[in-house]
Amino acid sequence: MIPFNDLGRAIAAQRSDLDEAIARVLDSGWLVHGPQHEAFEAELAGFLGVAHALGVASGTDALELAMRAIDAPERDVVVTAPNAGGYATFAARACGLGVRLCDVDPDTHLLDPRRLDGLLDERVRAVVVTHLYGRMADVAEVVRVCQPRGVRVIEDCAQAIGARRPEGAAGALGDLGTYSFYPTKNLGALGDGGAVVTDDPHLAARVRSLRQYGWRDARYIATDAAGRNSRLDELQAAVLRLRLPLVEAGNERRRAIIGRYAEAAPTGVRVLPAAGAEHAGHLAVLVTAARDELAARLRARGVATAVHYPHPDDAQPGLVIDRPADVPVARKLARHILTLPCFPELTDAEVDAVCAALAAEGAAVDAARGRER
Ligand SMILES: *Cc1c(COP(=O)(O)O)cnc(C)c1O
Repeated sequence: MIPFNDLGRAIAAQRSDLDEAIARVLDSGWLVHGPQHEAFEAELAGFLGVAHALGVASGTDALELAMRAIDAPERDVVVTAPNAGGYATFAARACGLGVRLCDVDPDTHLLDPRRLDGLLDERVRAVVVTHLYGRMADVAEVVRVCQPRGVRVIEDCAQAIGARRPEGAAGALGDLGTYSFYPTKNLGALGDGGAVVTDDPHLAARVRSLRQYGWRDARYIATDAAGRNSRLDELQAAVLRLRLPLVEAGNERRRAIIGRYAEAAPTGVRVLPAAGAEHAGHLAVLVTAARDELAARLRARGVATAVHYPHPDDAQPGLVIDRPADVPVARKLARHILTLPCFPELTDAEVDAVCAALAAEGAAVDAARGRER
């Protein structure tokens, strides 16, 4: 079976470096908010070209803290797309904000700025735009719509570390950017982790306070009532420092794998393109009218697949949406998307095997559908 992902391969390849990095932390006796964390924050900010990077405990926490950091208590709603895993919706709910859903573009699967108009009013605090599957959204266009209305822009970069446009990196173009270092992300920790990035010194200071109980001027005095506890520990920071320099090469390999799949895909199967620096190549997603059948056939040929994501936010009973969502594009795409294995340690032979299976089974599915028609 060709696995959908295999985190053990990167761990095995980096084992001695990881052992050393972990040993250095153990030797230091410093476990939280120490020198590794401080150095990682500086290195991440440098890598992204932003003024401030703040380590937190997860990508979802990063979203929540970004929402909390925006000082607009009268604005109690967040707008986001329904096809990005539900993380922004979870985060909004966790800090008591309502959610309105904005439909996505049928070609890019990204939040469609043309559909924001009817959703933005004086209640909206922020639009969360996700660089889904690694593809950078047109943040400048989202900012252009939001700024005159006093609405802030949060970029969810959990899938897009290292993606860049000429005007800047993912996370550097909105008011705040959020990252996840969940192990399967392009920069993964050996556990949970996340970061908030921003150029705004006031937002950075607020996140710094909020991530540690709302302490501001001194320890043990909560000054900011929106505070909570969300920290990135020294062991994870040390691992992330080791892996940050590997992100670009990993993204390159991921893009090449997706390019191979795109070449191999037969009629009726569209692999979303992932060429160029503005795509981090996080997930290899294809669109087909016969998703479940193709997935079953690929499985029978030894290729594992997944769906990112099967249920739009408004179809998840545990997520509370502010008003009935008008998101027909996202609903349709959710039934037609399928994700192929894509991680840097896939071997060339495995990529060849996925391509062969995709070409053969994709064509078989298409022929069967042709007969039905
Ligand atoms: C993984 C992910 C998150 C959440 O990150 P966690 O670290 O798992 O909390 C948020 N947004 C997107 C788009 C993600 O892919």
